[in-house]
Amino acid sequence: MKIYILNTGYLETDRNNVEACANVGTYSNPSIQNDWIKLPVMSFLIENNGEYILYDLGSHPDAMKGYWPKNLQEVYPLYQKEEERLENQLALCGVKPEDIKTVVISHMHLDHAGNLHLFEHADIYVSKADFMHAQTQVHLNLDPTTHGGYIKSDLEVPIKQYHLVEEDFEIAPGIEVVNLPGHTPGLLGLVVHLEKDGTFIFPQDCIYTEAIFGPPAKASGLLYDSLNYFKSIEKVRKLKSKYDAKVIFAHDYEFFKTLKTAPEFYE
Ligand SMILES: [Zn+2]
Repeated sequence: MKIYILNTGYLETDRNNVEACANVGTYSNPSIQNDWIKLPVMSFLIENNGEYILYDLGSHPDAMKGYWPKNLQEVYPLYQKEEERLENQLALCGVKPEDIKTVVISHMHLDHAGNLHLFEHADIYVSKADFMHAQTQVHLNLDPTTHGGYIKSDLEVPIKQYHLVEEDFEIAPGIEVVNLPGHTPGLLGLVVHLEKDGTFIFPQDCIYTEAIFGPPAKASGLLYDSLNYFKSIEKVRKLKSKYDAKVIFAHDYEFFKTLKTAPEFYE
């Protein structure tokens, strides 16, 4: 089994949106910008006996050309080079979107579900709680500034089959899907057991950065349910010690620079 870490560019935002601050649950007020930081946006390609599983889909390449509403372009501008488009990152691994039949999405936010249009043919696994919440948010009214981190067009891509996940399960031998709610009403992490490099845990936005993981765990600037958020971080901590695992933090630029990215891989 191999894991390729795909670099699909980065977002910028105020540090207040990442680490704990006074405006939990809202987007920060641009007038209090004080520390503008980079958030790497990663996808993960797993190759397992000739079959592929893709975990998370990054952001839509036209995000800054009007695909995202203006407020999100201002609060989370995306920087993505041509070679960082998801299909070009997959090409580094010799893979085309149509080769991938199974996709797991941690949650439906704009930096995780943005390339669903490339995977209409696939089986897509999502957290039931997050999927229901996302669909409700984007279809309640026409004002995208009330849709949180969800993009209506992402939610309207016609997909062959969504699979709504409520329980932890093994999606393939050595690859566990684990529920880590809190950042959003539901969120799917992955635990992958590699032969040579050991166990990797991908908590995605359950744990933005190494500093947030602690211990002690810290609140992030955006969270839906703080009780479950902290429970989920402790679940990751238990898994980490059970498997002596490496945790791959979702949006930590300094940490990201220490990782091997495609076409290099872990195995
Ligand atoms: Zn994210």
